[in-house]
Amino acid sequence: MRWDEDHESRDVIDKRGSSDDGGGPRGPGLLGLLPLLGPLLRSPFGWIILLGIAGYYVVSQLGLFGGPTRAVRQEHAPGVTAGDPQKELVHFVSFVLDDNQETWTREFSERKMPYQRAKLVLFTNRTATGCGYGQSATGPFYCPADSRVYIDLGFYQELSGRLGARGQFAQAYVIAHEIGHHVQNLLGTEAKVQGRGGADKGPTSGSVRLELQADCYAGIWAHSTGERKLLEEGDIESAIGAATAIGDDRLQKMSTGTVSPERWTHGSSQQRVRWFKRGYETGKMESCDTFAAQQL
Ligand SMILES: [Zn+2]
Repeated sequence: MRWDEDHESRDVIDKRGSSDDGGGPRGPGLLGLLPLLGPLLRSPFGWIILLGIAGYYVVSQLGLFGGPTRAVRQEHAPGVTAGDPQKELVHFVSFVLDDNQETWTREFSERKMPYQRAKLVLFTNRTATGCGYGQSATGPFYCPADSRVYIDLGFYQELSGRLGARGQFAQAYVIAHEIGHHVQNLLGTEAKVQGRGGADKGPTSGSVRLELQADCYAGIWAHSTGERKLLEEGDIESAIGAATAIGDDRLQKMSTGTVSPERWTHGSSQQRVRWFKRGYETGKMESCDTFAAQQL
């Protein structure tokens, strides 16, 4: 895919390596020094040592040395720094996020509807979200309560490694799918799931229909990148590879060796590819009505 390698997004929130992981406080804190206070006050250099510690504490709380307050300072500025091994990936995700949201802004305005932009949070291991604690192990996800996409970029290693979906457009598809959930949130699609018998698992469940529609919406974005000549050879195959890699049947087979359709929540590899392709080929939201479809 053709993209701007210096791109930065106002909608990316960088919480990588932050203390917002639900863990306890780091370091001893000032209270931890209390037992040392007596001996220090009696020693000739005690006052100097104490002043040094107090000075360091004040400076570190202001965030001048990095440390626990780093995430707060970076809350609205993506932490792309020279020594960041994920630097290129952060720029890429930022570009894909903005390009997706510009596409949906156009789609919505054609329908005379306002589009509200989602935020994307980069995190490592674990983070607090409007939907409770999010964990890397769950994979990237969207939280409707705070309109944010959450991703630990480490997932991309798993995607190209263990799951075998290579290529940059596979990575882009993941973001496009999550923004697809944001579009559903703005359109109030969740209500359709509730009205659909309430079954949250199985090959024709409301959950599967919701996920396949997000795949179809990802296809609509891919269609738009094609129209704007951003696609390169192999990109669509790469996205199809990702849709195949994260199908419920494929994942079940990898983890348990068997396939149990009654437990599907996202749809099979074949279904996911089918709906992504439908969005890609038509470029029309109307073609993504998985809730009306007899056959998924
Ligand atoms: Zn999803």
